[in-house]
Amino acid sequence: MRSVGIIGGGLAGVALAALLGGRGHAVTVYERDRAGGKLRREQVGAVTFDTGPSLFTFPEVWRAYVERVGEPDPLDLRPLPGGLGVHHTPFGPVPLPVPPDHPLHPHWRSYVRTAAPLRPHLTTLLTTPPRVTDPAFLRAARALFGVTGRHPTAHAWLRAQRLPPALEHALATHALNAGVTPWDAPALYALIPALLDGQVYRPAAGMGALLDTLLALAGRRGVVIRTGCAVTGLRATTLELDGGETVRHDVLVSAIDPTRLAALRRHSTRSPVGRRTVSGFVLYGVLDRPLPLPYTSIVPPDDFRALRRALRAGALPDSTLTMVHHDPPRVTVLISMPATGAAPSPDHPWVQAELRRVARRLDVPDLLPALRDARTLTPAHYVLGGHPGGAIYGAAAPAWRAGPLHPQPYHVAPGLWQVGTGVHPGGGIPAILGGALIVNTLMAERDR
Ligand SMILES: Cc1cc2nc3c(=O)[nH]c(=O)nc-3n(C[C@H](O)[C@H](O)[C@H](O)COP(=O)(O)OP(=O)(O)OC[C@H]3O[C@@H](n4cnc5c(N)ncnc54)[C@H](O)[C@@H]3O)c2cc1C
Repeated sequence: MRSVGIIGGGLAGVALAALLGGRGHAVTVYERDRAGGKLRREQVGAVTFDTGPSLFTFPEVWRAYVERVGEPDPLDLRPLPGGLGVHHTPFGPVPLPVPPDHPLHPHWRSYVRTAAPLRPHLTTLLTTPPRVTDPAFLRAARALFGVTGRHPTAHAWLRAQRLPPALEHALATHALNAGVTPWDAPALYALIPALLDGQVYRPAAGMGALLDTLLALAGRRGVVIRTGCAVTGLRATTLELDGGETVRHDVLVSAIDPTRLAALRRHSTRSPVGRRTVSGFVLYGVLDRPLPLPYTSIVPPDDFRALRRALRAGALPDSTLTMVHHDPPRVTVLISMPATGAAPSPDHPWVQAELRRVARRLDVPDLLPALRDARTLTPAHYVLGGHPGGAIYGAAAPAWRAGPLHPQPYHVAPGLWQVGTGVHPGGGIPAILGGALIVNTLMAERDR
């Protein structure tokens, strides 16, 4: 048994803590705020919101995780009606998946068929250490290259498919799952809607149930979680905590943004605005009337190229990617914006203009008047425990380095490992859980 210190109590830190605790290690998680990181509970009037992730994708990764932990799956995952939602492109609305009676359905089917050879390998890509010596990983990597071919980016791959503009625009939106535009995201991201084939989930008790479950799994494995306890420095395997305490562990794991880790190690840190993933202005509102909205609506930017220019310059784009989740009486509006650490108010002219564009596209003029109570989270909030500027997925890697094949910095120094957003490409729930499984495997190999 070894003593392991984990810096950061977001989903990644708690998920790995449960795995390590299950292998008999004495694990302590140090969290500067409260456990959960980007997934936290906020009260808006009388209504509770789970902030951060709203779509639970690739549940096979979650199942692989609970299997490794060795407990029955306690999360009652329910498919979300409407799958990935209606994408209100400038060429017309496109529901994904495209239903059989829709004129775009034949194109959708051929797109899904093109991606099909990769489907059986996706869990391997997300949960297996990327080593060419591993036959399963090699097969998965070959399947990925077989589908993406000579097209390194989402934009190039989609162009090569010669899809109708509305479908191409809707699919291109999913590059932003990597926090960047289709020109900068690996081709894999253009395949996400096909690989999901409409299967998007949410725990029956809401996204907060994921955090509750991870905390319970960690607790049953003896993990100690010290909340309100910021790490202020790190030397070898000794942590310096605010208040002056120092704690020595046998091994440390960073579950914080790699730039924050570099600062704790007193290494030089650089994060130019143009090389950050997007941040967000998120409005959590309570509705005073029913609205004719499905669970998920997506309003893509009118022009991805203009969005890319704006993000690179740290400027506010003319139009951006906005997602609306409607779970009456709750509505969540997530407006993507450059990671500049800004704190725009809901009355900011740019926010108001984007909200009006969204209301027009969705044809719901009541969207704003129907808000009874609301609160917002801005890039200034995401800066606090995350990447500079509040970049949700950390630094933006070039497309060729951002896929599952690039060499991962899981083991950063003797006795120091790394997990979570900004380490495993993608940064969403499947990437984080998959990354925790990978780091657990690599650490177990060292333990032997
Ligand atoms: C608005 C929004 C919508 C999203 N939607 C989705 C979605 O639909 N589906 C999906 O899969 N993903 C989604 N994501 C992404 C997903 O929520 C995040 O990638 C994930 O929650 C990040 O987990 P993490 O543990 O890696 O990082 P974090 O949640 O950032 O956790 C890091 C933790 O480290 C702590 N910390 C930082 N510095 C220190 C320090 N010095 N000492 C101690 N603690 C420290 C922080 O306080 C924080 O709690 C969304 C994210 C956002 C913000």
